[in-house]
Amino acid sequence: MFQPEIRNLCPAFSRRPVSPVYALDCLVEVKECDVIIIGCGLSGMTAAYEMLKLDPNIKLCLLEAKDRIGGRTLTNEINIGGGQREKFDLGGQWVASSQPDILEMLEELNIKTYPQFINGTKIMQVGHGNVIRTYKSDIPSLGSYWGIIELQLFIWKAEKLAKEISIEDPYSWDKAQEYDAMTMETFVRNNARSQSVRDTIQAACRSVIGADLDRVSALFFLAYANSAGGVMKLLMATENGAQELRVKGGTQQISEILADRVGRENVQLNQPVSAIYQDHTEFVTVHTLTGKIFRARHVITSIPPNCVTRIQFSPPLSEDRKLLMDNMPVGHLTKFIITYDKTYWRENGFSGEIVSNGGGPLLTCSTGPISVVYDATTDKNVPALVGFIAGRPGVEWHRQTTEERRSSILACLSEFFGSSALQPTSFTEKVWADEEYNGGCPVCFGVPGVMFTFKALRRPHGRIHWCGTETSTHWAGYLSGAVQSGRRAACEVMKLNGKNVTQLEKLVSRKPSADVDPLYSFPSLLTPIVVFLAVVTAFFAVYFF
Ligand SMILES: Cc1cc2nc3c(=O)[nH]c(=O)nc-3n(C[C@H](O)[C@H](O)[C@H](O)COP(=O)(O)OP(=O)(O)OC[C@H]3O[C@@H](n4cnc5c(N)ncnc54)[C@H](O)[C@@H]3O)c2cc1C
Repeated sequence: MFQPEIRNLCPAFSRRPVSPVYALDCLVEVKECDVIIIGCGLSGMTAAYEMLKLDPNIKLCLLEAKDRIGGRTLTNEINIGGGQREKFDLGGQWVASSQPDILEMLEELNIKTYPQFINGTKIMQVGHGNVIRTYKSDIPSLGSYWGIIELQLFIWKAEKLAKEISIEDPYSWDKAQEYDAMTMETFVRNNARSQSVRDTIQAACRSVIGADLDRVSALFFLAYANSAGGVMKLLMATENGAQELRVKGGTQQISEILADRVGRENVQLNQPVSAIYQDHTEFVTVHTLTGKIFRARHVITSIPPNCVTRIQFSPPLSEDRKLLMDNMPVGHLTKFIITYDKTYWRENGFSGEIVSNGGGPLLTCSTGPISVVYDATTDKNVPALVGFIAGRPGVEWHRQTTEERRSSILACLSEFFGSSALQPTSFTEKVWADEEYNGGCPVCFGVPGVMFTFKALRRPHGRIHWCGTETSTHWAGYLSGAVQSGRRAACEVMKLNGKNVTQLEKLVSRKPSADVDPLYSFPSLLTPIVVFLAVVTAFFAVYFF
């Protein structure tokens, strides 16, 4: 093993200002490799895998704070009653045909997908009075034609603006300052008057980002949507939409298989990185809370922005990156999976899809717990529903007990689907706010006023390179974004090592496809309304003239 001159790392022997944490490490053996990868979620594992493909001899050290691989992917076996168990995703779950990076990875690892079930009547609970409405077509039930028109106009406007914004540098947009000075709440209020439309967009923002509209920079949201190819892509479960496909066997296996390929001996679990030190040599030194020290020529970190602030850097991060990291909080999602002995909602003609403003106050919370629900029946036909307590309701419901959340969710579901909802075979929840080294999910988002620093997200800090889904330029925030960012970071480092990365760079530089789902392109959503108005006009014309 490489034995560096350990004395140089110790504050006692160095004139450099270093944190006290180094003092603990003076007599510790230092492990050396070519590249250290921090974080064994999908982006970190992808970076390692792609580097090894480019150079099978490269020596990698992968450091993960948790006792498991996978980060924001987590596939657990749930006891579904009758002595049976089934795998469910408690973290990231859906992929889409419009997400080439993750689809290529799945194909390479021979992991199959299957379509999200969407057939049947859907349910909406939005607007004043929290009225529950159903609809069969793709047109959401908002209680009035005006609501539908207003939602359509809002979507068109948001889509048009989003297309003008580059995720690489949102601040280069000529209206950037104006839109970064406002929250999404203001943007929605300026463009939608009806409560049902505002509630719909609120539910969408809660489930997509895990935060309410009033916390999110309008500029960030539009840039984020553009990285996926448009606002509607984030919301849909139809072709190309974010909720289109599910992964057989769950998504955590992607990182597990990558760990096998990278070599388990290179992966060190339970190693929370506490400090990263770049000295005058060509090495970067990484310290963990367990007192271990690692050295390499390059570091790739996949630590999510909200956790980066816990690491000590020497030299310190640039001011723009620091400001950004301090102002990219993570969303709040509690995910629940409920299994049943039959798909009673399908039998009653429901698809299982619910979009809700939460309904009226419940227990000590200002709304009920449900934001969004989908059918989660597995490819092995285990009947299940999946849902989220998201954004502010997520924060409020966090103070209730699991039993209170369980009984309230079941009670709400019974209002939508009838009393069969009260008879589950299992209830499982994952409160991501309690997950150490993530502290929330699904993604870190930008608050107003800091987007002028957003370019710093991908900019290397000396020999430290950044990946992680937040740094992606294609489906940022998603599994596909995690893969794309891992590939990009691998390119950056391997290029510096003189490797030919042309092929990989081509994949990384792909732009999101600009195709708009025909449903939301004129005139299809408005067609029934236009036809209705034409018939009424014709009727009056014939009647009066
Ligand atoms: C409930 C939920 C639902 C989601 N739904 C979807 C979905 O349906 N479709 C989709 O595409 N995406 C979804 N996502 C998002 C998706 O899971 C993430 O985009 C993706 O997994 C992020 O991967 P990553 O590698 O960028 O980050 P992470 O998975 O967070 O990996 C970062 C790793 O860094 C580690 N780490 C942090 N600090 C340290 C430290 N100091 N030292 C060492 N290691 C550290 C963490 O433990 C973690 O393992 C969802 C996420 C959640 C949680």
